[in-house]
Amino acid sequence: MGARVVSRAETQSVESWSRVTTSLDMPVPEAMRAWVLGDPEDLRLINKPVPIPGKAEALVRIDAVAICATDLEVIKYGTPALIEGGPPFNKNFTPGHEYMGTVAALGPGVDEFAVGDRVTVEIHAGCGQCKRCRMGMYTSCHNYGLNYGDRDKGHRANGFTTDGGFAEYAVNNINTMIKVPDDMSDEEATLVVTAGTSMYGLTELGGLVAGESVVVIGPGPIGLLAAAVAKSLGADPVILIGTRENRLAIGRALGADVTINAREEDVVARVKAHCAKGADYVIDCAGTEETVNQSVHMTNRGGRVCLAAFPKEPVNFDIGYLAVNNIYLYGIRGEGRSATHRAMAFMAEKRFDASKIHTHTFPMEDLPTALRYARDRVDDAIKVVVAIGGQAGEKSDAA
Ligand SMILES: [Zn+2]
Ligand SMILES: [Zn+2]
Repeated sequence: MGARVVSRAETQSVESWSRVTTSLDMPVPEAMRAWVLGDPEDLRLINKPVPIPGKAEALVRIDAVAICATDLEVIKYGTPALIEGGPPFNKNFTPGHEYMGTVAALGPGVDEFAVGDRVTVEIHAGCGQCKRCRMGMYTSCHNYGLNYGDRDKGHRANGFTTDGGFAEYAVNNINTMIKVPDDMSDEEATLVVTAGTSMYGLTELGGLVAGESVVVIGPGPIGLLAAAVAKSLGADPVILIGTRENRLAIGRALGADVTINAREEDVVARVKAHCAKGADYVIDCAGTEETVNQSVHMTNRGGRVCLAAFPKEPVNFDIGYLAVNNIYLYGIRGEGRSATHRAMAFMAEKRFDASKIHTHTFPMEDLPTALRYARDRVDDAIKVVVAIGGQAGEKSDAA
């Protein structure tokens, strides 16, 4: 029998509102406003049907969504989003993945959450059935993007392979949802997935234990929160390397013991002055030939280098030094093994103040401006948040 191609609309229509739990306190409309991606860098605000949560899923009314460098990548190049086996352009696809909101409806059988709960989300639910998902490494799911037609493995990574958060509502697998404490702002709650990515790199993949030394290269959002998470985990010392003094100052406020300005100092020599044999862990959030080589050369024998950036070009580095010194090198994609839940535990206890990296808030209609602030670092933007249905932006300092 020939394979029949099923459109996304048909796939989604398998779910029905008749099996969904809603509340009169929070009526769910039939249609919502959503940004969709047309051609590269062409976003349009349209009306779309509100998606229907299925088994083990909930509908989240999106209150705030943070912009990530990977959103800019998806909007310009398509990758790493994958819709119906190809680029995400002109497929009615909604990007955006670092969001939080309020539970608006529950799929069949869901009793882990209630309508009205404030939640933040991690991105990847994976397929739940492949080897890596079974290990908790759902960000490395072997069925990435397979959620359509006859190849439907149910993979979900909102904003990458399923609709994301630049919209008023999104469906989430309950495993990706984390309750938000009452005293945490919407903006801060959007940053949990960034902290969770740092946590996954340090603990679940890296095996960091208290008292080991950590160097972070590149004080962007992931790097700054990596310094914060490392300090919260008991790393000593935590050294942050960057080129802009204001970013390094934020790193110190988040817990970095030592900062090094790479424009002014020999970073490998400075690291070795603080950790005589080199650092136990180095996280490279810059991904240039210079920083990858610095990472390898500042790591001690048997230490680990985590590559957290996605350089577009191949990078040459000193493999001989790595091999002779028994240095481990590993990549990280996203926030596996529920690391985001553990990051929230730290943030709820106020072990560090992630809101120090939030700089701007814009309303939903101004998404293109918000993206430009994030891309061009206008007004020294670090994390730019778009307020949709919640209280974010009420104390906004942004234009
Ligand atoms: Zn992101
Ligand atoms: Zn999987």
